[in-house]
Amino acid sequence: MQFKTLADVDVRGKRVVVREDLNVPMKAGRIADDTRLVAALETLRYLRDRGAKTIVVSHLGRPDGKVVPALSLRPVAEELHRRLGSTVAFAPDCVGPAAAEAVAALENGDVLVLENLRFHAEEEDNDPQFAQQLAALGDLYVNDAFGTAHRAHASTEGIARDLPAVAGFLMQKELEALGRLTNDPRHPFVCAIGGAKVKDKVGVFVALLERVDGFVVGGGMANTFLAARGVDVGSSLRDSDLEPAKHIIALADEKGVPIHLPTDAVVSTAFDADENATVVPIDAVDGRMILDIGPETAQAYALVLRGAQTIVFNGPMGVYEKAAYQSGTRTIGEAIAEATKAGADSVVGGGDAAAAAHALGFADAMTHVSTGGGATLEFLEGKTLPGVAALERAALGAGA
Ligand code: ADP
Ligand code: MG
Repeated sequence: MQFKTLADVDVRGKRVVVREDLNVPMKAGRIADDTRLVAALETLRYLRDRGAKTIVVSHLGRPDGKVVPALSLRPVAEELHRRLGSTVAFAPDCVGPAAAEAVAALENGDVLVLENLRFHAEEEDNDPQFAQQLAALGDLYVNDAFGTAHRAHASTEGIARDLPAVAGFLMQKELEALGRLTNDPRHPFVCAIGGAKVKDKVGVFVALLERVDGFVVGGGMANTFLAARGVDVGSSLRDSDLEPAKHIIALADEKGVPIHLPTDAVVSTAFDADENATVVPIDAVDGRMILDIGPETAQAYALVLRGAQTIVFNGPMGVYEKAAYQSGTRTIGEAIAEATKAGADSVVGGGDAAAAAHALGFADAMTHVSTGGGATLEFLEGKTLPGVAALERAALGAGA
């Protein structure tokens, strides 16, 4: 890869500004899911143990340039303290005197978390002066925030113009795992795709058409494709515009890439009427709502997945948050786990696909579970991620 990583630089005694993606979901002041925080620990432990003065910056939620106390990173700093088992200081602003004083107080091996970057509108505006203020806090910049790499913000892009810049271990791991899917993947390469955001995934679908040997499709995505093929999907979640799906079907036919669609489904009368959940053949939805792929479909998909050498899984097969509609996602997750055990390279991308993998217990059996949502999709689409481009530019320039 074209950028430098933490392993290429000496960090002892250096003030290191680390951009992490600590945008964890919060509920009533508590961290509801610590996946992203846990993913940041490797880089932070490394810096601490090597005697760096670590300055962690991140955003949390969407405060839109205003101070929103409920979106303070203070609880996140406290959780980092517990996880690292050493003191983690906190400064109530990411720039200005509060930040400067806290940085000046750091000894080698100390870790400091600065307040939410997005309390300043200049962060998302990628304001050069704001980027310089962040850069002035450190001697080295480490970008470990893969989940935010598709955004050109001051802390992900601008700052790399003002400091030597390298990738952290999470960023490196993500780019290596996702890079294997775009550079010479082993075949058969199968994509399991589902979820709700059909429109957002058209780009990734079209890009993957060039590389994969087949798709198995579930979720709202499958409903849209079924409708495009003339199947009556009743009141199921689907895109109203069927043209993108028709376009994809035509492209896939041209290339001879099979798009497997459900032959049966778990339907119900309403989203919240779990007691009415029942399995029907796909031509008997009869005005109801498809909420999971059916067992026959899940078995067929599992067979395809077990024969794959490379698998990407994006978007759950059904409403995995509810017990009544988990079974499709579980069956294909187990099949991917089996394939992985037999040597396949498997990558889970997408916030909900990753959450489902954790909730249903197959995350550890995957080669890689990506922490990125939009960033992962954009990478797979072949787009340049501004945060990664900034690291590449930095490596070509003066360097660290
Ligand atoms: P990801 O985050 O993995 O990219 P999405 O955000 O596109 O996935 O979609 C995830 C959501 O899709 C989940 O909340 C899930 O309940 C929902 N979903 C999956 N299948 C269906 C379906 N058949 N009908 C309605 N919602 C669905
Ligand atoms: Mg999602």
